Amino acid sequence: ATPTALMVGTGRGAQLGILIKGPQVLESTRRVDTIVLDKTGTITTGRMSLAAVHPGAGEDRTELLTLAGALEAASEHPIAQAIAAAAKNIDNRRLPSVDVFTNHDGRGVTGVVDGHAVLVGRRNWLADEWSLTAPNALTAAAEEAESQGTTPVWVAWDGAVRGVIVVADTIKDTSAEAIAQFRQLGLRPVLLTGDNRRAARAVAAQVGIDPDDVIAEVLPAGKVIAIKELQAHGKTVAMVGDGVNDAAALAQADLGLAMGTGSDVAIEASDLTLVRGDLRAAADAIRLSRSTLTTIK
Ligand code: ADP
Ligand code: MG
Repeated sequence: ATPTALMVGTGRGAQLGILIKGPQVLESTRRVDTIVLDKTGTITTGRMSLAAVHPGAGEDRTELLTLAGALEAASEHPIAQAIAAAAKNIDNRRLPSVDVFTNHDGRGVTGVVDGHAVLVGRRNWLADEWSLTAPNALTAAAEEAESQGTTPVWVAWDGAVRGVIVVADTIKDTSAEAIAQFRQLGLRPVLLTGDNRRAARAVAAQVGIDPDDVIAEVLPAGKVIAIKELQAHGKTVAMVGDGVNDAAALAQADLGLAMGTGSDVAIEASDLTLVRGDLRAAADAIRLSRSTLTTIK
């Protein structure tokens, strides 16, 4: 392909809301056969809101939300922001302060609030790393929430599980159409997320991704491994993501696409940026690379 023609393609990309790092990117775009999609912030808006609060037996709803919300106020995770906002909304109160806050990437958060050692996070993290067991009633509530595509997080303090808080995200109204376009272009869509398997499958079903092509409950480092495994199977992989935890996988992919609405780290690790955060622009980019390179032949 001639540099001039590729420059024209790059300019056309800008008109479509696609920022391309360099003209050579269009070459790798054309070969892609698999498109891996992050869930939160990529297929969904990533703006979470509180869906339900389930205090355990004998626990108080306000205390549950206050201790969890105070801790989450120190985190920038979308789950954390939803819980902190909901806690602040109870009587418009100021939340207690947090000591020794620690973020455990892809798992949850810990800290001391009002003299209690509090942790909020994913279920297997509570079980595996903190040896906490969940009461059956809460497990049932959490599983019900997961099968509806929402995300339950577990709250524990002073060595006992105290409740479950459910947050909900919204699927972007452009996602299903984008995924249909990927299929028309001959690409296989795969969903890759740190979130729970049931919620991931519920979202996949709504946007037209095969249940066998859902990779869920992966830690941030697992996202890179998932990309490498697809590549080891001979796939040429595009990855679309928005988060700090997607950056390494975006760099590993043959083609990394960042949501313009996402983190700077993700944008820096990518070859291409979808300025408006609309997944359909990824299909536009692939069509553009194919037409640009055909014209030049
Ligand atoms: P995603 O791949 O959807 O961006 P992450 O890797 O950031 O997800 O997080 C994976 C899971 O870890 C979340 O679904 C949640 O259960 C848990 N988690 C991560 N951060 C937090 C937090 N600040 N509060 C509660 N749970 C968290
Ligand atoms: Mg994300």
